[in-house]
Amino acid sequence: MTDVVCDLDGVIYRGETEVPGAGAALTRLADAGVGITFVTNNSARTAEQVADKIGRVTGFHPEPASVVTSAMAAVSLLSQDDAPVFVVGETGIREALRSEGIDMTEDEAEARSVVVGVARHISYDLLAQASAAVRDGARFIATNSDPTFPAADGLLPGAGSIVAAVATASLTEPEFAGKPNAEISDLVNARVGDDVWVVGDRLDTDIALAESVAEWRSVLVLTGVSSESDTGPVPDHVVADFAAAVELVLANRGG
Ligand SMILES: [Mg+2]
Repeated sequence: MTDVVCDLDGVIYRGETEVPGAGAALTRLADAGVGITFVTNNSARTAEQVADKIGRVTGFHPEPASVVTSAMAAVSLLSQDDAPVFVVGETGIREALRSEGIDMTEDEAEARSVVVGVARHISYDLLAQASAAVRDGARFIATNSDPTFPAADGLLPGAGSIVAAVATASLTEPEFAGKPNAEISDLVNARVGDDVWVVGDRLDTDIALAESVAEWRSVLVLTGVSSESDTGPVPDHVVADFAAAVELVLANRGG
């Protein structure tokens, strides 16, 4: 069984715009019997919301079960012993906690852990509460370390920027869950077979994720953040875009 493990932003879409040919290429993969797992470091949305967006933007409609987010990876680090959880984040984190039956709190004094992701409603009070909880010994989990994420009109502060504020104020380093860390790699590995192709636009997250499992192969596409001349993890293949990546996988799968 061949699987493509696919990043989203910069690979199949940019913001609300499809990367040309991406939807048709996803359909080709599915028709060829290749498994597709979508993996994103964006913790703001639930798997259902991510699947909806992929369908809306590309015309290829995946099952929510084929989506893995950094929020799900962060929650996979926690058990009921870490509850209640104080959240600096959005629906994606809250829904991932709810689906695992892990309680949340808005009272930082009773929090046994703090999960921080991208939070577009961030306030000084929220940063102060999260930092106080961590300083008082709560476990500190970060969905991901990405400093920015791409938006229609440029780069916006990502989870890493908010995590850095809490880390600085609490004098504590977090445990990171998203790409390229082991937690999200384990979640993905549980869903795929032994012929795995990781397609992404970032060396430090996507291509580094591929390096976490010896057999996984990596394909860098040039429609997003990283370019061929960037330094970092070295991809096995570099192609122009997702459609070209799909050609490569279909021509070389299983071999
Ligand atoms: Mg990307």
